[in-house]
Amino acid sequence: MLDCAIIGGGPAGLTAGLYATRGGLQNVTMFEMGMPGGQITQSSEIENYPGFFEHDKTGMDFMDTWQKQCFHFGLKHEMKKVERVSKTGEHFTITLEGGDTVEAKTAIVCTGSVPKRAGFNGEDEFFGKGVSTCATCDGFFYKDKPVTVLGGGDTALEEAFFLSNICSDVYVVHRRDEFRAAPPTLDRVMRKENIHLVTDSVIEEAYGDAMGLAGVKIKNVKTDKITDMPNTGLFVFVGHNVRNDVLKDEKGEFICNMNDWGQVIVDLSMKTSVSGLFAAGDLRIEAPKQVVSAAGDGSIAALQVISYIQEQQ
Ligand code: FAD
Ligand code: NAP
Repeated sequence: MLDCAIIGGGPAGLTAGLYATRGGLQNVTMFEMGMPGGQITQSSEIENYPGFFEHDKTGMDFMDTWQKQCFHFGLKHEMKKVERVSKTGEHFTITLEGGDTVEAKTAIVCTGSVPKRAGFNGEDEFFGKGVSTCATCDGFFYKDKPVTVLGGGDTALEEAFFLSNICSDVYVVHRRDEFRAAPPTLDRVMRKENIHLVTDSVIEEAYGDAMGLAGVKIKNVKTDKITDMPNTGLFVFVGHNVRNDVLKDEKGEFICNMNDWGQVIVDLSMKTSVSGLFAAGDLRIEAPKQVVSAAGDGSIAALQVISYIQEQQ
């Protein structure tokens, strides 16, 4: 019987693990289906985490010490995908991929979110063959070549900036003429000579052959004019889907209260509507979707777990 099962090993899960173990819990396991670190490991830079101001460090570098610190204090890590979290009597059953189960007194769900697909023709066909959601991973393939970026949020513009240091030209295609991204990020992008903002436009089609993506067709939604962009990589940054499947029961019903966007409803203590079940990070309501806030959530949830276990004894 675990004291606490932590599902997901991003900033929220790792911080929950650190606080739970340093707070005296002996038996805490973090279930992470990949390498710990979470979605920030896809980022080429991070400059808004207090105390960390290293321009030449990637998100991967940034998260590397987090896991070392957690494991030092006794957090256990199982590289397993969790299928389901359910409450059986007073305890939780964590069902792992393959069917094995683990019992826990408490659970903190920190499964975050995944990049959304935009839905244009050819997106799925050429995903991983020229259509990417990771500039850090795939930008180098387009060294000194033009690339197209889809989206108008913080991710799209930050990643466009990153690509502009590798690629010859970056065309940022956005369906409106106003950007969701933070004003300083937009300013920085607008000052970069080889970034071109293509507003009021969408990707009509990504085309290619068995070798992969050959180009994209961009449609201006106000004029209907189609512009062909041959020989380009395409980076899609159009938001995220909340990873909430672990909170569905066998009938597909959520075990705790959720909002209309599939985010977990929590209070300021990261408590869900189910006693002993906590949610932290990008999957909770009103998440600022920042590393520092996900980490803050994780610490709050772990401290609440410690109190909860003490109250139960
Ligand atoms: P995630 O980081 O999403 O971690 C969730 C983890 O859970 C993942 O590792 C996943 O593999 C795991 N998981 C999911 N489902 C399961 C399952 N069923 N079983 C086991 N494991 C599972 N924020 C900033 O503050 N500054 C930035 O500069 C910044 N830049 C960003 C750049 C990019 C490209 C992206 C995508 C995000 C950026 N963010 C930035 C946002 C930041 O990364 C997130 O807010 C933060 O990582 C959320 O942490 P989390 O722990 O809630 O979730
Ligand atoms: P986001 O803020 O939701 O932006 C998504 C963008 O994609 C929007 O501009 C949206 O257009 C566009 N879009 C959505 N669906 C589309 C479609 N089907 N076709 C074409 N365009 C589409 O997502 P994000 O940029 O990934 O950011 C997610 C969160 O992480 C945000 O809260 C963000 O602030 C945070 N984040 C922060 C930082 C940082 O602080 N440094 C860095 C990265 C991310 P509309 O604008 O028209 O809706």
